[in-house]
Amino acid sequence: SPCPPDRSVELTPIGHISSDFPDKFGIPRQPGLADAARATLILTPPYDDPLTVRGLEAFSHLWLTFLFHLSPQRWTPLVRPPRLGGNARIGVFASRSTHRPNRLGQSLVELAHLDTTDGVCLHLRGADLVDGTPVLDIKPYLPWAESRPAARAGFAPAAPDLLPVRFNSSARAALAARPDATSLGELIQQVLGQDPRPAYRRGGEERTYGVRLRDVDVRFRAVTNEQGLTRLEVVEI
Ligand code: SAM
Repeated sequence: SPCPPDRSVELTPIGHISSDFPDKFGIPRQPGLADAARATLILTPPYDDPLTVRGLEAFSHLWLTFLFHLSPQRWTPLVRPPRLGGNARIGVFASRSTHRPNRLGQSLVELAHLDTTDGVCLHLRGADLVDGTPVLDIKPYLPWAESRPAARAGFAPAAPDLLPVRFNSSARAALAARPDATSLGELIQQVLGQDPRPAYRRGGEERTYGVRLRDVDVRFRAVTNEQGLTRLEVVEI
């Protein structure tokens, strides 16, 4: 008789992410939206054998399959994508929601450098992953097979619009005093430019928000001018 289908599977992470994003809040909603975001994937035994990544340095981009380990196990058939303002509902499988069966995520990231001097460490750019994310698999990206620029992308047809980001004088001074001023400044610009404010809060301009990047708490608020144009202002680092 045919074998019964497996009802469950057990997966073991091959490594973990160390990233510029200590918290979920503020992380861009897809990879590649903040190139300045640095992450490292550190493989764990027995996957940290340099043989597992032989040839990988010849690829510029990788697919990572990972676990949304900070999302709850529970899921619902309908989700509310932030892209739709957080109100309209669509099917979970028509979305990239983090609240999904099996909690699997998939991100295309840039491989900046592969280090096999002590175990295996992959230095990545543009990841949308929170620090500590367990990674389940790595595959090289094949542009000739996987790039479809003319594909239809439903309710998310293009990258989100960016908001202008400015630093007030004290935030600018605090940034300048840091050894990583240039890369942190870029990261703040790119992350805040995505407008991390929850959709339902937009318009509540008196409020100050905080996004943690690396070891800093970046405080910002929205400012709308007479023409009705909104920018985000960094008020404290
Ligand atoms: N590119 C992936 C995908 O499509 O599967 C992730 C998309 S998901 C919409 C991106 C968001 O996941 C980020 O903005 C961040 O808030 C959240 N996130 C990142 N790492 C996570 C983790 N380990 N657990 C739960 N949420 C995470």
